[in-house]
Amino acid sequence: MSPLRGGIDLGGTKVQAAVLDDEGSVLGSAREATPTRGTPADVAAVMIAKLTEAAAQAGVEPRSLATVGVGSPGAVDAATGTVTGAGNLPGWGGSYELGQTLADAFDAPVLVGNDVDAATYAEFLQGAGQPFKSLLGVFWGTGVGGGVVLDGKPWNGRGAAGEIGHVVVRIGGARCGCGRRGCMEAYAGRASMERRARRRARKGVHTELFRIMKKRGSTRLTSGVWVKAVERGDPLAVELMEDAISALGAAIASSVNLLDVEAVVIGGGLGLRLGAPYLERVQDAMLANTFARHRPPAIVLAELGDLGGAVGAARLAAEQLPARRTRRRSTAQAAPA
Ligand SMILES: [Zn+2]
Repeated sequence: MSPLRGGIDLGGTKVQAAVLDDEGSVLGSAREATPTRGTPADVAAVMIAKLTEAAAQAGVEPRSLATVGVGSPGAVDAATGTVTGAGNLPGWGGSYELGQTLADAFDAPVLVGNDVDAATYAEFLQGAGQPFKSLLGVFWGTGVGGGVVLDGKPWNGRGAAGEIGHVVVRIGGARCGCGRRGCMEAYAGRASMERRARRRARKGVHTELFRIMKKRGSTRLTSGVWVKAVERGDPLAVELMEDAISALGAAIASSVNLLDVEAVVIGGGLGLRLGAPYLERVQDAMLANTFARHRPPAIVLAELGDLGGAVGAARLAAEQLPARRTRRRSTAQAAPA
């Protein structure tokens, strides 16, 4: 039997775990809401529980997984598995040795990488990006994350490549969650869109957005709330959505002008919820700013949904880490030296 691989996507709203075989087939999966209070250790405990559950579903002992990959938000040190400043996670303003904690729990080598890089790579290997050799992943949700695959390989730069949400689309523009101004995410990220909507509503601008939100029993302007309000023609929702699409189009075009990738894969909560009609609008906004307009990249919707991050993390770990048995042998060989 081929070795089995564990993957965990650590998101701001959910922890998704999966167990894969070496062909990428998902044999078991489990998910749970990310704890909203507590410490990084509490979050790690949920991650361990979910991967254990996914392993049970796949019919294997959790400690028999050959490798474990993690896609994490925040600043990730891939060499040590330390995650720093994951602001959307409880008590995670500082550093936490996530990789080591999971390695101890599963007695397996662990690779911690960026969540969006993992999701992009999964789309490349077994999702919407399969026909292409180079692509840009754009995950449009609370923020806007990006990932890059060039010439068949994930490109991470020195660890921080692909941050398309922080491509500047307006110099001196709106304040971004990152503290700087004019980033694409400051217009297109769902959290920023909500901040802008709340500010305008406080100033007396009429909008249905918050009525729809309350009717749905939500305290946040979720993707579903935005879709509903835009469908109803709510002027503020339509205006902010248009700003978001222009910003997305400009940032994607700038990235394409630089990298000339074959395809752009759009995913994320908002991207998937808005779907095909919006893909076309993003494409139009991109084309308006594309240098090589005669040969634009394909724009496609992500296909792997919620499992993408976990699948990508598992496969990155499988490729980049020596498997457990190999590691033990090489450790033994290395010892005398
Ligand atoms: Zn920013």
